[in-house]
Amino acid sequence: MTLAETPNTANRQNPLLTLNYEPALQTLGDDYYDEVAAAEFPQHILRWRNDALLPKLGLDPLNVTDEDFVTAFGKFQGRKPFLALRYHGYQFGEYNPQLGDGRGFLYGQVRGTDGELYDFGTKGSGRTPYSRGGDGMLTLKGGVREVLAAEALHHLGVRTSRCLTMIETGLSLWRGDEPSPTRSSVMVRMNRSHIRFGTFERLHYLQRPDLTQKLLDHVIEYYYQHLVGETDRYALFYAELVKRVAELVAQWMAAGFCHAVLNTDNMSITGESFDYGPYAFIPTYNPHFTAAYFDYYGRYCYIHQPSICQLNLEMLQTPLKTIINQADMELGLSRFVKYYLAEYRNLMLKKLGFAKLASPAADDLLKLTIKFLQDSQVGYHQFFSEMARTFSSKWRDEPGLVLSSSDIVPVSGTDATFDNWCILYHKILNDFDPEQMHIIAQTLTTSNPRTVLSRPVIESIWEPITQENNWQPFDDLVQRLQRRD
Ligand code: AMP
Ligand code: MG
Repeated sequence: MTLAETPNTANRQNPLLTLNYEPALQTLGDDYYDEVAAAEFPQHILRWRNDALLPKLGLDPLNVTDEDFVTAFGKFQGRKPFLALRYHGYQFGEYNPQLGDGRGFLYGQVRGTDGELYDFGTKGSGRTPYSRGGDGMLTLKGGVREVLAAEALHHLGVRTSRCLTMIETGLSLWRGDEPSPTRSSVMVRMNRSHIRFGTFERLHYLQRPDLTQKLLDHVIEYYYQHLVGETDRYALFYAELVKRVAELVAQWMAAGFCHAVLNTDNMSITGESFDYGPYAFIPTYNPHFTAAYFDYYGRYCYIHQPSICQLNLEMLQTPLKTIINQADMELGLSRFVKYYLAEYRNLMLKKLGFAKLASPAADDLLKLTIKFLQDSQVGYHQFFSEMARTFSSKWRDEPGLVLSSSDIVPVSGTDATFDNWCILYHKILNDFDPEQMHIIAQTLTTSNPRTVLSRPVIESIWEPITQENNWQPFDDLVQRLQRRD
């Protein structure tokens, strides 16, 4: 039988339903979730399938039809149970004991070809006991935005969830932050785990150290497997989580990404980034850039992200302290800043063309770059992509040639900073051999893709979708993000 014949075979099974599903979370018992049903939708129109993820699940994209996606993730036929996970969380600093999966559920857990366990989690699949006043739905634009954010971040080297599929569901939704009525979608997210800091916070609130212990053992067994059997595994787990989160925030900061809603229910216990609502890539280096319109005081603004994540890790000590020694956790957390700065420095130097650069030149260059970006308010992404586009080994010859053929124009008052920056960059280039210039050029290109997921770019693909149901610009944008153009 050839591959091409496979989808037409009468008894053919949907390969998305016969994956290696493992009921890992269910083995913990029903204290952590509620079984729920998916909503029934009037329509199921496949708008996006992430074929790049299928080989990680052991599937050949050619063997999975669009109808397979719709059956599994739009009509939700052929699988159960679906589990709405229970969790609490600090939202904008206030404890909220009424959270939980309010518009999604854990669809299933699948062993990938890399041997790791992955979660499929829905968003927009209907009401659950945690919906409170909400409709349990996701707008089409919300689905589009999360697909784009995850693909952009993944290809920028950020440790993130990705979307497996997005299906338009034919409902009209009313939202205060979108022209309404607006279209609806269901999105399926694939990540390491949907267990959040808030999952542990809930168990502390309920005063159930027994359930905390069971969950922490589960987390280590599945997501920190190399620690299983270590006598000090709990302290080691916390120390590693600190490192993972510190590096994650550094990746956001270098990418110029503002997550927007860093509540503890949006912090994964695996240190992975997920849940992209009102996020934005910063247009310019403005430390107080705030992405969510409802973040009135700029709590989660761009520059606060490292300290907020550090604070969230500190708050996680409260539910964990029945198991992990407080002093060990404090020691673990004390390394946050060191890990953060090391990763941020590393990534920013790469954006500036250097896989390796010694101090003090490295620190001087970083400081001066940030000063110029902040004072001049030139485009954050434009600055680096112009470096990549116009780099020339002639920049070694004299400082006046550095960025001379680029679109970067220093606004008045920043000429001196710009000149100093060019002088320093020129000097650093002369510390390298001429033969190394092509490596710098390459590092600049690979670290600074031209395609940036700015808000205007998102609007530019959204307009054809709303006006003429034209998905081509969306598909093209995803491809550019995936190719790192
Ligand atoms: P988020 O801000 O997306 O992380 O969501 C915070 C909480 O609100 C979670 O418990 C969500 O499940 C819930 N939620 C958000 N939007 C809706 C909605 N439209 N319907 C029901 N619950 C929702
Ligand atoms: Mg959330």
